[in-house]
Amino acid sequence: MTADQAEQAEQQVASWLRAADRVTVLTGAGISTESGIPDFRGPQGLWTKDPAAAALFTFQNYLADPEVRVRSWRARRDSPAWQAEPNAGHRALVDLERAGKLRALITQNIDELHQLAGSDPGLVIELHGTMRWATCLECGLRTPMPEVLTRVAAGETDPPCLRCGGIQKSATISFGQSLDAEVLAAATRAARDCALFLAAGTSLQVYPAAGLCDHAAASGARLVVINAEPTPYDEVSDAVLRAPLGVVLPRLVSAAL
Ligand code: NAD
Repeated sequence: MTADQAEQAEQQVASWLRAADRVTVLTGAGISTESGIPDFRGPQGLWTKDPAAAALFTFQNYLADPEVRVRSWRARRDSPAWQAEPNAGHRALVDLERAGKLRALITQNIDELHQLAGSDPGLVIELHGTMRWATCLECGLRTPMPEVLTRVAAGETDPPCLRCGGIQKSATISFGQSLDAEVLAAATRAARDCALFLAAGTSLQVYPAAGLCDHAAASGARLVVINAEPTPYDEVSDAVLRAPLGVVLPRLVSAAL
């Protein structure tokens, strides 16, 4: 794409945003890379650098192998997300919401940076859960993650549930684990009930999240992909933008309001 074509595509998307009253946004790890949290599959992604890590952190391995749990708690403790601040991309989506255009903000991210930026938690649909809570896999007790990580720091390498002794895990969805049916249903409704569906910072390789693009397109919404690298949905989308989200989202939103 030439610079002129990219500029034209951006203007086109801004005009669709201006006209649309119900916009559903799907974000992925790419919206948080400019906040210092690496994605999985981008050039600097955790799995691009260490492909074996992906296979290790499946739900089945987490249940079966205490060593996987020890490594998971350590990785959680050391996550850059604890120090991360929302960036201009997250804030632009808050502006879009305040302009009354946002139908829903579906995110695959577990970092809660949308809520920290000021997005209405009632509009944020966390498809893959949150790293800020832990859940007991036996009794379902939810505990704030910092409390569990304090026990990890004190030497409990795989801290069991304080109520029932069961295995705990961050309240996130791992590979091999089902999504919460109500959360997925809400996301599907939001994808079907919008005029414009914007997929931002996601490689669109993880289902059922990526399939929300199909729901949106089948319901007649325009589909726009904003991502640094190609995705499997580029060909069926109405426009593709390749700029960094922290730059392009503020530009698009201010042009549309
Ligand atoms: P992914 O890693 O598969 O894809 C991210 C995409 O974003 C890549 O294609 C990359 O090229 C693009 N990208 C990176 N920085 C960008 C930028 N500044 N501007 C535009 N594009 C950019 O991520 P995914 O599709 O979200 O799927 C991975 C899974 O990993 C999700 O389930 C997600 O929950 C989880 N995850 C979450 C976080 C987080 O919460 N921040 C971080 C890593 C992984």
